[in-house]
Amino acid sequence: MAVQKLHINGEWVSAAGGTLSAYNPATEEVIAEFGFGNAADVDAAVASAAAALRDPAWRDMAPAARARLLFQLADLMQEHTEEFAELETLNQGQPLAMSRGAVASAAEHLRYFAGWITKIHGVTSPIAFPNTHQYTRREPMGVCALITPWNLPLGILCWKVAPALATGNTIIIKPAEQTPLTAIKLVELAEQIGFPRGVINLVTGDGTTGQALVDHPGVNKVSFTGSTEVGRKIVAGSAASNLKRVTLELGGKAPSIIAADADMDAAVAGNLAGSTFNNGQICAAYTRFYVDKSRHDEFVDKMAAGLKNLTIGSGMDPDTNLGPLVSAEHLANVSALVDSGVSEGAELVMGGGRAAERGYFFEPTMFTGVTDEMSIAQQEIFGPVLSVMAYDGAEELDDIIERANSTEYGLASTVWTKDMATAHRVANGLQAGMVFVNMPPAPDMTAPWGGYKMSGWGNEMGPYAIDAYTQIKGVWMHYG
Ligand code: ADP
Repeated sequence: MAVQKLHINGEWVSAAGGTLSAYNPATEEVIAEFGFGNAADVDAAVASAAAALRDPAWRDMAPAARARLLFQLADLMQEHTEEFAELETLNQGQPLAMSRGAVASAAEHLRYFAGWITKIHGVTSPIAFPNTHQYTRREPMGVCALITPWNLPLGILCWKVAPALATGNTIIIKPAEQTPLTAIKLVELAEQIGFPRGVINLVTGDGTTGQALVDHPGVNKVSFTGSTEVGRKIVAGSAASNLKRVTLELGGKAPSIIAADADMDAAVAGNLAGSTFNNGQICAAYTRFYVDKSRHDEFVDKMAAGLKNLTIGSGMDPDTNLGPLVSAEHLANVSALVDSGVSEGAELVMGGGRAAERGYFFEPTMFTGVTDEMSIAQQEIFGPVLSVMAYDGAEELDDIIERANSTEYGLASTVWTKDMATAHRVANGLQAGMVFVNMPPAPDMTAPWGGYKMSGWGNEMGPYAIDAYTQIKGVWMHYG
């Protein structure tokens, strides 16, 4: 099996750190070998990205020309939709239809930020100094390390690549060790288009590779999506090295409040989608269900029926709704948390174990009688595991909001009600970066995506991403 190489300074090179294997989680088989970047590889990638930043071919490229590169990349990516989708499904496990959708959405991200390039302005400020003109420039951060997770490999990578390149940075891509294949493919296509040498670098590897980027004084910005635990290491490493700028999109434990007046069929459909999309391996997945006790049994019965209807299987099979979990390690983590639910006294309504002997398939799992303190109500599970809690409709809405806020996370959240006042009160009260009223979670490139509390720092998407990848320079010009 040929080893997939790193991409540094416009060349495909072997990793100094050796090789790693990529697996198909549906079969547990090795499907590719790829480079394991070490500190020396990271050094070379940083030198390449730093040189490209000073290269007039990139630094002085006309905004419209830079935009064309991103538009071309989007088109080329979509022309290769089937290749990307198959790679993603084979490596990550998700259903092929979802992988195809992810390619289309990733391409739209590239186009949206390509559109921004010719519209990034500075301002002039009405300063008091006489005979002086003051203006601002939005300049690139510099060398950006883009460290991505395994749950939506191509999509999340493009959430970062698009704004980082749109704003004139140079990048080092570090995909997750479980799912590097679509990132490698994206860089192959970018090279065909003719981004100047060294603008896009790729260093595959594991957490040590990521840490080497975080610790490197030549990296100016890290954009990271992944676990809260690693997020802390990124902040520590960045602070200890050169105070590099950091954007973090971390874990979540989204609450879903289902009010007595909810349209139950819509709530069930939306919560099924929100809790099982990508097998629950989504940081915005709905996980803790606070249901008015007058509707609790109806919700549980209908959700159970919906979960039983889901077809588990290989993502390559068009009938599949739930593919495998991504890895043996992740399967063990999900299983351990489910076991903790049982031992801490929650009632297992359905599921709870592996769904096949081969492949990392897991049964859709639902608990009732969950209390706010249980591990399954506090810790991110990142699997198809639902925890249902009843609340007394006579309780103050503020108390329910407080319970919904009672984890360290604050990424997505949702409320299901027909009452405008309830919807607004809950939307205002939830400590979360995103509140979805009567709908499943839905990232959109035009709207902010980010977390409160330990779910992150800063926002991706929309104009917020332009801010995240630029720094502002003020220029004062005295004309005597
Ligand atoms: P998950 O828990 O979802 O597997 P992680 O947070 O462990 O996600 O990993 C997300 C990304 O962060 C991956 O690309 C991984 O290699 C990288 N990573 C893991 N540990 C570190 C670290 N200490 N420093 C930088 N990156 C890391």
